[in-house]
Amino acid sequence: MAESAVNDVLKNLNPGLNSGATDAPACKNCRYFSHFGGNSVCRRSPPSPSFPPVAATDWCGEFSLRQDLAVARHAKLVEKLDAIRADREEEMRLKPFNGYSAGAGDYYISGCRLIKTSNACPEQYDVFDDKTGVQIGYLRLRHGKFRADLRSAGGPTVYEADTIGDGSFEESERLPQLKNAVAAIKKELIASTKAAKKDWAKNWAAGVRGMIYG
Ligand code: SF4
Repeated sequence: MAESAVNDVLKNLNPGLNSGATDAPACKNCRYFSHFGGNSVCRRSPPSPSFPPVAATDWCGEFSLRQDLAVARHAKLVEKLDAIRADREEEMRLKPFNGYSAGAGDYYISGCRLIKTSNACPEQYDVFDDKTGVQIGYLRLRHGKFRADLRSAGGPTVYEADTIGDGSFEESERLPQLKNAVAAIKKELIASTKAAKKDWAKNWAAGVRGMIYG
């Protein structure tokens, strides 16, 4: 649904692609169109010697959408984009998987399963890597302070934010904050994995040196 909805929005952004619409290119929809005393003229340029007559259904390359129609189009686009956003958020909710049925408050974000363990005061989640099932983070919001700990509660805090909601998120901020927290956890995991590999290589080299030189 999301893809066709996006195409629909793009079509509305370009009047030339939308000839069937009520605000399609036509002199009657153009800001330079003027109709008085039974005459229709174009006022795009100064009269020479008079404004050129046009038919309501004509149009030219100088077509510029009337302001009232532009406002209406903008409102329609905002409505459609809101619908797409709501649809995407719904898609991001977890689907039943391997016998596990997701709770209504659980999310799937960037390869991670966020399992809600408390609705409010605090609102909190355990974060699992979807492939391995290993817990990689813990998220908690209380008293307007949101934080993400690495691996589990009490691990190093890798993300903090002040929130509008006090004991739980306002709807508008939940998804952006959860996404930020997941991104911070993944970034930190990658960095710590690289550091661990480097340490392992260093220790391995030291071990080999020890075996050779005693
Ligand atoms: S001729 Fe062009 S500029 Fe003039 S009213 Fe028609 S579309 Fe607008």
